[in-house]
Amino acid sequence: MELLDAYGIPTPDGEVVDAPERAVEVAAGIDGDVVMKIVSPDILHKSDVGGVAVGVGADAVADTYADLIARARAYQPDATILGVQVQEAVDLDDGVETIVGMNRDPQFGPLLLFGLGGIFVETLEDTTCRVAPVSEPEAAAMTREIDAAPLLRGARGRDPVAVDGVVEVIQRLSQLVTDFPAILELDINPLVATPDGVDAVDVRLTVDPEAL
Ligand code: ADP
Ligand code: MG
Repeated sequence: MELLDAYGIPTPDGEVVDAPERAVEVAAGIDGDVVMKIVSPDILHKSDVGGVAVGVGADAVADTYADLIARARAYQPDATILGVQVQEAVDLDDGVETIVGMNRDPQFGPLLLFGLGGIFVETLEDTTCRVAPVSEPEAAAMTREIDAAPLLRGARGRDPVAVDGVVEVIQRLSQLVTDFPAILELDINPLVATPDGVDAVDVRLTVDPEAL
């Protein structure tokens, strides 16, 4: 999240904590219900193991902390658990979950991916690719190319989302992966796009230690 911050990619408020009392403190500093997630390098798909709790009210934060740790332990007893992320909730009702990612291809170099995101991204496979670095018109074209493009422009009476914010994130990610060849792959999934802007809610990346 700090890496994304450094590149001007918007992220929700939040913090990774390693004690239930700290989780309660962080949640108290965030307006409304929070989202809580297990943080472990051994658990890449957190919701698959019950590692994401949405809509957590203040009085449930400490118990949820314990639940998330217990589920992670049950899934993989020897998993390295760094803690629990307590995060501001993003409004998904008005939003579209998108994915912005990068995979380094041995022949072509960094391939940027944009598409419909969320936990069903592999199932729907509605994505498009460009070789980084991308210009603004190229990034904008990516947002028009996917099958779900009409959702971004506001389908069935919904307000259009901030596509300019998505275009900017694609370009900022392009810059990030161009600056750091040691990043082998990176996914922001979801990048939630609402009428008011965008928020990178989840990020996962792999670094090549030899290239650092
Ligand atoms: P993972 O991809 O590892 O399962 P995510 O952090 O992407 O974990 O969370 C899974 C899903 O939970 C997201 O696709 C989104 O629908 C929902 N979610 C996660 N964080 C938030 C948030 N801060 N606000 C609203 N919904 C969220
Ligand atoms: Mg995710």
